[in-house]
Amino acid sequence: MPTYDFRCADCGHKFTVLVSISEKDKVTCPACSSKEVQQLITGCAVRTGGGACDLPAPGGGYAGGG
Ligand SMILES: [Zn+2]
Repeated sequence: MPTYDFRCADCGHKFTVLVSISEKDKVTCPACSSKEVQQLITGCAVRTGGGACDLPAPGGGYAGGG
């Protein structure tokens, strides 16, 4: 079963969950129980049809902050 990274739109908490695709809609923030969570696209999780796995983060934001 794959893992998915999410970020809470409510409190900004980032977390990883282990769920099936059909359960992704039911993911809630473990910090504030908000349902307003956004899935983060990570590494090789998604193949767009011929491309490298180590794509740079489009929006950045992984370093620092918090
Ligand atoms: Zn939250």
